[in-house]
Amino acid sequence: MELLNTLNEKQREAAAHDKGPILVIAGAGTGKTRVLTHRIANLIGTNKAMPWEILAITFTNKAANEMKERISQLIDYSVDKMWIGTFHSICVRILRRDIDRIGYDRNFIIYDTSDQKTLIKDCIKELDLDVKKYNSNVIKSIISNEKNNRVNPDKFTSEHYGSFYHRNVGDVYALYEKKLKLANALDFDDLLIKALELLEREQDVRDSYQERFKYILVDEYQDTNNIQYNLVKILGKKKGGENNVFVVGDDDQSIYGWRGADITNILNFENDFEGAKTVKLEKNYRSTNVILSAANGVIKNNSQRKGKNLYTDFQDGNLIRIFEMDNEKDEAFTVASLMKKENRDNHVEYSDMAVLYRTNAQSRALEEGLIREGIPYKIVGGQKFYERKEIKDLVAYLMLIYNQKDGLSLDRIINVPKRKIGARTIEILTECANENGISMFEACFEASELGLTPSASKSIGDFVSMMEMLMIKKEVMPVSEFIQAVWEDTGYKNMLMEDDTIEGRSRVDNVDEFLSAAKDFEERYEENTLEDFLAHISLLADVDKTEEKVDCVTLMTVHAAKGLEYDTVFITGLEEGIFPIIHQDEESDDDIEEERRLFYVAITRAKRMLYITHANDRMRFGNHEMKSKSRFLKEIPKECIEEENPLAFAAKKLEMMDEAFGGFRSSDGSTRKKPSFVKDTFFKGSSTYEEDKKPRLKSDSIEAGDRIMHKAWGEGTVVQLKKDGSTTIAVIAFENKGIKNVILGYAPIEKI
Ligand code: ATP
Ligand code: MG
Repeated sequence: MELLNTLNEKQREAAAHDKGPILVIAGAGTGKTRVLTHRIANLIGTNKAMPWEILAITFTNKAANEMKERISQLIDYSVDKMWIGTFHSICVRILRRDIDRIGYDRNFIIYDTSDQKTLIKDCIKELDLDVKKYNSNVIKSIISNEKNNRVNPDKFTSEHYGSFYHRNVGDVYALYEKKLKLANALDFDDLLIKALELLEREQDVRDSYQERFKYILVDEYQDTNNIQYNLVKILGKKKGGENNVFVVGDDDQSIYGWRGADITNILNFENDFEGAKTVKLEKNYRSTNVILSAANGVIKNNSQRKGKNLYTDFQDGNLIRIFEMDNEKDEAFTVASLMKKENRDNHVEYSDMAVLYRTNAQSRALEEGLIREGIPYKIVGGQKFYERKEIKDLVAYLMLIYNQKDGLSLDRIINVPKRKIGARTIEILTECANENGISMFEACFEASELGLTPSASKSIGDFVSMMEMLMIKKEVMPVSEFIQAVWEDTGYKNMLMEDDTIEGRSRVDNVDEFLSAAKDFEERYEENTLEDFLAHISLLADVDKTEEKVDCVTLMTVHAAKGLEYDTVFITGLEEGIFPIIHQDEESDDDIEEERRLFYVAITRAKRMLYITHANDRMRFGNHEMKSKSRFLKEIPKECIEEENPLAFAAKKLEMMDEAFGGFRSSDGSTRKKPSFVKDTFFKGSSTYEEDKKPRLKSDSIEAGDRIMHKAWGEGTVVQLKKDGSTTIAVIAFENKGIKNVILGYAPIEKI
């Protein structure tokens, strides 16, 4: 039992539990994952099980690796023999050994989402169905849904016989399955489904695993779907009725409902597994009292829950600081400044800080802020903004339009979206380019002379005309409008809009964010041609490529943060429509409850310090959108927060500006030239002061404390004046518009 000494009594009770099913249902940070790892170590340490008799299932590969590492710190045995992994990785292992028993070859291949889509499109075509009516993405989700409910094509068709549309979808489903089988391929859903089928159908295979895995442990059980539930159930069954399934989870952290996870799996565990024992843990070891009270205050607004309250022996700790920002650039700048401050004053390492956001696209502004402030970062569970495929593709179009000799870019996009320009055509074009010492794009002009098939020749001709038209547009359009034209004219937009899955929508969001970046660039800089913009983003993309440093902050979506913990956490974008996210004005109670659980997950990642930000104006789809603060903020008990009131915050903001600009002064006091991409962005970004460039109120006629009237923002009080070279910036607290920085002499203000 020595191994369990570092657990509290309740935790120890769970970890040391001997035989029979057991559920640990407990809130965030109560040590569920810790109990699970200690239980494994203890089973081996006390010779109750050999390493290969353990099966542990985690939610991500990252979590699996962490678990292995933690276990090896506890015991001397090698963890290599244990089966620790995700449902998918475990199922692949099971299938590789025995899938021949259900009619596949063991060297089966795995089709990812995009392979799957291509195959479905092929089926639609082969069946002569109208591609407009029979959208491949819609059909993909129908198939996935039906598969996960174990409805085969025949059953599907007979269940929907009355509907012409569904009968045809049934045919696509049947053909899709046939083609997969012919290719000896499995899609992601199949990996789990076929493993379950194998175990159900083949008694000796089932017996061998049931015998082998004496102990099964599952983390994050609240996010299992129906097939996963059945896998746990069948693997856990033992001869003689014994069932050593140990699952841990938190119904309040179920955040994958949109992907088919079924919260009732955890709620019904006691009924599903006979003789199950339940252990509840309520003591939290992760966060301060303030952070926990905030989390409790938020989650208690959900009606669908078992209900539990977390407590801690830790002190109250710091109040949660909520920042109301003007816009997403200020948000990014503030996050970066606060990080520097935490690092310098409280010695918090960058690796112990995380920035969370609801949607991937939000990372763009945050990344720029961090890059500008020189804070190293990494993105978990996603790619850095400028490395995302859709962004790289659009940038490739821009580069090619800017420089037609750019063969790499041409290669990247000539057939994206698909325009029937195949590998052979590209080969011929490349040969022509090489032989004549011309670029690939120039070779395209020779297409009719190269002996291509008429259809290939026509495709190339269409491509060239489209690009030429864009080159003309480039000359007359502002960058953001031009990028919009590229997005639409190339067919890229149509291609993305077709995809109505979560991933597809997120790609559209990213492009919208890219348009916002261009618009923002245009507003900020006078030199704002396409060339300038490309130079600007190549700088950002280049910083992206630098080696990941060890001590860097982590950026990720809240979904990706599940199970993790950090000393200091920033939750950004707490605005209606963003967090909670609302799709196309539909909002159901279930959706809001899932969003609230997501916010609960976000809050409970923080150990010591939690910052929350929201912006009044967020650039989306290239437009400024006014945002109101998230309803969730009102649910945090007042006594837990220090809301940055406009006056107090103004002074702090000035301090931060001091730091930021101090950074660009060289040691002799003279101002060093700033890198071009940091040109006064903070002032410009936060104040939109350039409304009108006529000289206005002079600095000598105004001082802190004065009341002023601004043409657009109404009455306010001057909080402080600040010199930067020859300009004077006034920080003004407006009655209804919050804090703004304006440049004296330019801003339309009058003393009153
Ligand atoms: P989540 O719901 O977020 O996944 P969890 O319930 O899995 O949280 P853990 O990550 O296991 O919680 O534990 C949270 C933190 O508390 C970890 O740093 C862990 O080491 C620590 N902890 C848990 N129990 C104890 C204990 N008895 N003594 C000391 N530290 C503990
Ligand atoms: Mg955990």
